[in-house]
Parts: sequence; structure tokens; C-alpha cells
Amino acid sequence: MHKLIKMSCKQKRELDKMDMLELQGYSGRVRELLERENINIGDEIEIISNGRRYRGILMARYELADPNYITLKLPNGYNIGIRVTENTTVSKISVGVRPTFVRPPKPQTLSDLPNVVIISTGGTIASRVEYRTGAVRPALDAEDLLAIVPELAEIAKIDTEVLYNVWSENIQVQHWIGMAEAIDRSIRKGVDGVVLTHGTDTMGYTAAALSFALQKPPIPIVLVGAQRSSDRPSSDATTNLIAAVATAAKAPFGEVVVAMHKWHSDDVIALHKGTRVVKLHTSSRDAFRSVNSRPIAYYQHGELKVVVNNLNPRGSNEYVFKPKFDTRAFLIKFFPSMKPDILNILADAGIKGFIIEGTGLGHVSSDWVPVIRGLTKRGIFVGMTSQCKFGKVNMNVYDSGRDLLKAGVIPLDDMLSEVALVKLMWTLGNLGEGAELEEIKNLMLKNIAGEIYSRSLPNVGL
Ligand code: GLU
Repeated sequence: MHKLIKMSCKQKRELDKMDMLELQGYSGRVRELLERENINIGDEIEIISNGRRYRGILMARYELADPNYITLKLPNGYNIGIRVTENTTVSKISVGVRPTFVRPPKPQTLSDLPNVVIISTGGTIASRVEYRTGAVRPALDAEDLLAIVPELAEIAKIDTEVLYNVWSENIQVQHWIGMAEAIDRSIRKGVDGVVLTHGTDTMGYTAAALSFALQKPPIPIVLVGAQRSSDRPSSDATTNLIAAVATAAKAPFGEVVVAMHKWHSDDVIALHKGTRVVKLHTSSRDAFRSVNSRPIAYYQHGELKVVVNNLNPRGSNEYVFKPKFDTRAFLIKFFPSMKPDILNILADAGIKGFIIEGTGLGHVSSDWVPVIRGLTKRGIFVGMTSQCKFGKVNMNVYDSGRDLLKAGVIPLDDMLSEVALVKLMWTLGNLGEGAELEEIKNLMLKNIAGEIYSRSLPNVGL
């Protein structure tokens, strides 16, 4: 009698999610061999190769690795790769029990807890490893997240809404509008807080867009992501999500914020203001930083500590909903020897405003000055931000800056370039067709959501 191999629930779920019936990742003669023996992923098999006998469960494998290997899960739980040669034989011992992912029942909640809605849009926080390519793909929705993090039920009464399931590089302006509308619906329903799960790559852009679309909201709106998918031991998904839900449920402010690890360890989650936050690291869990401002709060050991004054209070009745954006805005990063012709090409293609990310205090080469003058004369907005993340632009210090000012460039103080782009889209969208350059300029320089004229502390966050 062969020994039955017991799989843990996690392993069963792994199998369930990897489209077993397709012999995922197997190709060529190895695939033919498995098909001939009517073997599927999850079946218990025996392989005899080079005089050695192996028993285990056939696992899906990475498609991009050497095709002549079979991946087997041994009874001790380890996966091994076995090279298939001319003399290798493979036989089926038993058909694997096809596991199905049954979401654990929704945890019971206490009735006197605050109401929080988790709206999912995709990203690593809602993803798992895909065994076909070894990459991760979005696969968990808000309801799954609640089921796998039952602690959330002790913090709030949770409702979930699956809005999108996309990587955040695929988020477009219409998604921002969709998110703003979904959040506005929740606000009008009277929830106590909203959590929006989102891919981290463009979370800063979305946070800015929502800060302009949902001004002075009466409740916290908390964007949250993860740098590592929730099926990895090093995942930051759970801790970030718990902090996000606790902030949405209890924070005394009505602000759009981003909840992510403050540093490597799990103990502190920082809450960054939506117009002040950037992703500064490709993979580290503490990738997010507030720029030219501090995080507004920290979540630590179950407590939320607010460290910034003058926040919009929870329950504020100054809420404004303005979810319009116009995509005819463009962000250009200047580099040495870059020619300005691109500006005219883009303007001729219909671009209504530019954010130039200049060098240092806000400079570009002098051959750009006449081209920019021509643009502003045509009523096209040109704003200046800096490639230095910290500090603010100051175009009065050097003659190159002054020449740009005379050509009509608007210095955008300490606004982050990405935030300036989003604000320009929002400004163009809200002022509508035929807006005067002066109106665009006035709105771009008006502080709407803490995006400009913050206290500039050059060493904060560096
Ligand atoms: N590129 C993906 C995204 O932004 C994965 C990154 C992440 O979620 O952390 O959605």
C-alpha cells in the first residue's frame, strides 16, 4: 500500500488556483508522456529515473524553466525537480483529490463596531503566485481578504465591494472616477470609513486623484497595498490591511491617506497624506515615504497615533465631490540635451497643459524658453516642478529660472511632479473646455488638499 500524502489546506489552495487540468507549465515530450499516462496536476505518481524511484504529487511548474523536468511534491512536503530522460518511466498511482478553494465563513462581527467598506481594485495585496510563469497575478477579492484576515472582524463590521481586479499600471482616469464614485456612494450610505485595496505602483497617483475628487471627506479614506503577495511568508498584506481598517474605523480625521509599512518590521504602519506620498523603492516593504511633510499618523500595537495638527476632522460638513479629470495634461522630465520640439508636437496633438519636471530649483536648457513662450501665448499651461523630490522650486535665484518665469512658466512650489500632473488633469476637467490660462493658473496654485505650500523641511523623510 502506498502512503497517502496529506496536503495542508494552503497546499490544497495552491493546487486549486493553478488550473490543474491544463498540466500547467509542462510542454514538449514531458507533457506528452504525462498525457499518455492520463496524469494531471495533483495526481499521485511514481517516477523511475536513473535507477531511482520517486513517489509524490505532480505539481504545476514554471513554464519558463527547463522543459525536461517534472516537479514532484514529496511526502515530506518538499518539491523536487526530476529530470526526464529516454529511460524515465512515469505511472499514475492515484487520482488526486481535486481540492476546491472554499472561502472560510465570514467571521462573526460585533454589532456595535464601526462600519467599514473594503473596496478592492487589484494589485499585489490581492494576488498570489501564478505557477505557470512564476509571476504573481491578481486573484483575491475583497471578500477573500476578509476571510483570510479574520482579525478585521474584531475591528469593524466589514462590507466588501469588488470594483476592479487589475494591476495598478492598468489603472486609468476612468478607474479613478469609478473609485471616487464608489467611495462617494459609501459616504452617502453613512459608512464610518473606506478602505481601498490597490496595487502599489500607481497608488500615489490614485491617492492624489481621490484627494482632489473627494475634498474634505467626512470619513477616512484609506488606500492600502502590499509589496509581497499574501501567500508569501514575508507578506506585508495582513499588517497593512489591519492598520488600514483600524484607521478607517477609528481615525479622528476625514482625509485620503495611504497605509503602508513605516520600516522593514511589521510593528509600525505609517499613514501618509494622499497628496504627499511616493513609492521610493521597487520591492522593500517600507517603499512609501511622505515628501516635504511627515506621515500624518502611525498605527502601532493596535493604537492609532495622529502626529499632525490641522487635519480635516471626521464628520466635517465641508465635503466636496468633484470627480472630473481631463487627460490632456502631460508630464515631461527634462534631461541634458533634450530638445524642446516635443512640446510643440504634443501641443499640436491637443495637449492643454504641461508639467515640466526640471532640474534643481526648476530649470531647463535655454533653448526651451522661446518654445515655452510660444505655448503660453497659445493659452497652454506650463507648470514647473523639480526632479529633486525634496524642497521646492525657486525660479528667482538664477537667470535661467527668471527667463522661464518671463516666458510664462508657473512654479509649483513643493508639489510632487506626479501630484501636479494629476492636479492639472483635475483642474482641466473641472474648469472645462475654453478655460482661461489665468483660471488654470489660479486653481493650480490654490491649495486644495495639502498638495502645495506644505512646510518644506528638506531633511524630512530623506
Ligand atoms: N505592478 C503591480 C501593481 O502595482 C504590483 C505591485 C504591487 O501591487 O505592489 O498593481
